[in-house]
Order: sequence, then structure tokens, then C-alpha cells
Amino acid sequence: MNVCYVYLQIYRLFDDATPINADCGRLCRKACCRGDDLGMYLFPGEKSVYEFLKPDWIKIENSDFTYFYDGQKKSAPIAFCNGVCDRYQRPLSCRIFPLVPFLTDDGKVDVIVDPRAKAVCPLASLDAEDYDRTFVKNVKKTFSLLCKNKQVYAFMKEYTMYLNGYKKFFK
Ligand code: SF4
Ligand code: SF4
Repeated sequence: MNVCYVYLQIYRLFDDATPINADCGRLCRKACCRGDDLGMYLFPGEKSVYEFLKPDWIKIENSDFTYFYDGQKKSAPIAFCNGVCDRYQRPLSCRIFPLVPFLTDDGKVDVIVDPRAKAVCPLASLDAEDYDRTFVKNVKKTFSLLCKNKQVYAFMKEYTMYLNGYKKFFK
């Protein structure tokens, strides 16, 4: 199946499902959309969405974040915006924030509050049951599906180690 099509279908799961049943951007004046320099990692294959849609509000570069797949070192693309986007085209990382996928010690896909969110997002201190159930279910469903792909799983192994670094930092 065409990877661009897969991501576009996944995006639709988050057109209406949001972290809480309210406009959380009003809590923080959209702290996660301030157009700073941090950027959003794109998951393997997701760049094809932007090669297809060609939006003018996003800039995509190769990041320093790398992982090994199929005997090769791959660089994860990172997207930058200026704080404004087309909501229906925003990257998956933006759609699932402040949650993030994670691999457990036994290699299973799980979802956690992104440790990087603690510095910016008022929702980061919520317990899992305080999040909208459909939102959490859709994040889990998305990554259970995506991680069936070997390249996404390879990315996730490295991404989990990267997130662990932040977990330690925020302890
Ligand atoms: S920082 Fe958190 S609360 Fe604010 S808009 Fe982003 S996800 Fe919502
Ligand atoms: S792409 Fe959109 S949702 Fe993502 S950080 Fe930029 S403005 Fe916010």
C-alpha cells in the first residue's frame, strides 16, 4: 500500500480526536505551536505526504537523529513551521502531542506522555485517564499499525532510547 495514503488515512483519526474534550490551545495560547526551532520529527515514510501535498508552511530537513535499518544509517526528517499550518495537513507528531509512542523493555508498542512536553504543555501532568479516550485509543491504534512496518519499528527502537534520555532529564 502507498505509504503516503497510509499516513493520510491515519491523519484522519486525529481530525476530531484531540487530547482533551476542549480546545487545549486556550489553556496555553498554543505553546506547542510557537514556531520555535525545535521542529517535529517525521515518522518513516511520512515525508512522502509533504512531497505529495507540497504545503508552503512547512520546511523539512534531515535531522541529526539517526537509526539503522536494512544495514544502512537513516536520518529522520524533521519538519519546521512558523507557528501556522493547515490543521488537516499537520504532521503526526503534532496530532498526537503531548503523547508519544514508546517501546517497552519487551519490545511492545506503548504510548506515554512525551517527556519533552513537560516543559511546555499543561496537559503533560495529567494522568492517562484524564485524556480523551478516543484520542488515546487512536494513538495506540496508529502505532500498533505503523510498527508492523520494519522500518518504523527500527526507528522506534532508537526513538525510545532518545526519549529515555529525556525521561532521565526530567526525573
Ligand atoms: S501545549 Fe499542550 S495544551 Fe497547549 S495546545 Fe499544545 S497540546 Fe494543547
Ligand atoms: S505544524 Fe501546525 S500543529 Fe504542528 S507545530 Fe506547526 S503550527 Fe503547530
